[in-house]
Amino acid sequence: MGATSVGDHDIFAHALANLSEERKLQSFAVKHSSTFVNEYGRQDDHGNFSDGGIENPNHLLGAFPVLFPYGKGGLEVDRRRKVPYKSHVRWALQYGDGRFRKDLSFIFQVFGVIQKRQMCNSAELQIRRASFHRNEALINTVTPQDLRNASSEEHRRVPYTNQGVRVLRQHISAVRSKVMGTDESRTGIRSKMWGMTVMKNPPSLWITINPSDTNDPIAQVMAGSDIDLDKFEKTAGPDGKERSRIIAADPFAAAKFFHFTITAILETLFGFTKRKNSIQRRPGILGQVAGYIGTVEAQGCGTLHLHLVVWLRGAPTSAEMKEALKSDDFREKISLYIDSCIQADIDGGDAKTVLAIPKEQAIAYSRPPDPRLPNYEETAREMEKKLARAVQVHTCSNEGCIVVKGGHPQCKRRAPFPLAKTAWIGEDGSWGPKRTYGYLNNWNPTLLLSTRSNHDIKLITNGVETKAITWYITQYATKKQYRSSNTSALLAKRVAFHRAQEKYTSDCRLLNKRLILRCANTLSREQEFGGPEVITYLMGWGDRYISHYFVAIYFDAIPATLKRQFPELRSKRLDHDHSIF
Ligand SMILES: [Zn+2]
Repeated sequence: MGATSVGDHDIFAHALANLSEERKLQSFAVKHSSTFVNEYGRQDDHGNFSDGGIENPNHLLGAFPVLFPYGKGGLEVDRRRKVPYKSHVRWALQYGDGRFRKDLSFIFQVFGVIQKRQMCNSAELQIRRASFHRNEALINTVTPQDLRNASSEEHRRVPYTNQGVRVLRQHISAVRSKVMGTDESRTGIRSKMWGMTVMKNPPSLWITINPSDTNDPIAQVMAGSDIDLDKFEKTAGPDGKERSRIIAADPFAAAKFFHFTITAILETLFGFTKRKNSIQRRPGILGQVAGYIGTVEAQGCGTLHLHLVVWLRGAPTSAEMKEALKSDDFREKISLYIDSCIQADIDGGDAKTVLAIPKEQAIAYSRPPDPRLPNYEETAREMEKKLARAVQVHTCSNEGCIVVKGGHPQCKRRAPFPLAKTAWIGEDGSWGPKRTYGYLNNWNPTLLLSTRSNHDIKLITNGVETKAITWYITQYATKKQYRSSNTSALLAKRVAFHRAQEKYTSDCRLLNKRLILRCANTLSREQEFGGPEVITYLMGWGDRYISHYFVAIYFDAIPATLKRQFPELRSKRLDHDHSIF
């Protein structure tokens, strides 16, 4: 798939296509042009792929001579058996010498191509929907000025008043919701959370896990470092600086480490194994897990973390919980549960004693204590204290958690956290672990020893929290993207350009398809991604962890079927109410 015959006269031909004879005659060897490079495979009249020749090389062969040094191989070229673009990318990312996965331009380029192709397929489907036909004329009336007005509404955080803009935005969102990596695709998780709640009662735990990819020796091994994990020596192997460099240069290893760690936690520690057609459960460190839904997010530096909502077996409904909390016995049981699963104190120490424990740097560059050894209990306890000091102490900072509310600066994580001599829960569902120093974050002892990195674990006791969490983990956009830009302002520019580009196009359907597609792509260009995040999408590891399979019911066809069956339903009112599905 990569190189073929050495000595081939075509060496570098594709890469140097711009230096072809015809162009050498002109004054510049490399000419720029206003047309975009075609990212689809080059096809002959019979629909067979080819490498495109010197004048029109396949986009990857032309752009990456370093990766395809013989000008042969590549994606979507003449092969005996067709290999889909996506599968070929996965193969390339796992290629032995690591050259594809370490080339950031390559991974972002192929990610962009796949995203745009998905966008195109999704737009094609969208314009065939009955709802699109109904709104077509309205969409046609939207002007750049309408979007500029919408931009000021967006700025003031009020709903759009222009109906055309509203409808256009709805269709753009519908197109984007089927494309990997878009914020719109995450909103689908919301309905799954409600579905799970209907099936399993409200969730019980809310956990955030931040595995340390730069320090954990497993990540280093995945990036190719020579470390003996069985006879681990903290002083051997790459130092801290080198470890960070290795991980930054290999986003594939970082992403693989993250997904490996999360899967190990879910299966080994939580006792929940998801197979293709079945689920295996056994009691884990949190009890019996009935199900979970989690979202993967990237921090500014690209490191991945997981927000996870956990449903425990036998959890009561909201109403039952409210009633049960009135009983001392029930509250006692919950306090015991908190005491064994959620901790937040180091030997009852206050700020002075906790902060006096030396903070060990890069503590994740270690191995968990071996439970088979005779002094395991003692070793584990000592290690837990060191870990809690190193990774669980919350430090407020202006760049991180400090927000100004009502003129007063305060920590958005609500530190210092309430102190308590023992784990407790009140009749109203408020609760807390034993805490004697207000800046220690909650942790689970086994999770702390296993990951040796920062995490947080909280009990969910009422529906209001469930709602807030659901909103929080599916609203990725507000946290990371579009930080400085206002989406309507971006669309206003794109629509103005579109109208100019399509001055002579009279086919209304084509015009609107291009409009929706261009707008949907414009929003993608504003998204920021880290290397490990992009690898995650390319490899199909996904941006979510969901314990169950869900079947979507497409409601679009239902009103039409009903109306066919019951013609008396064809009233104007029904049409109006269901105009935008
Ligand atoms: Zn803070």
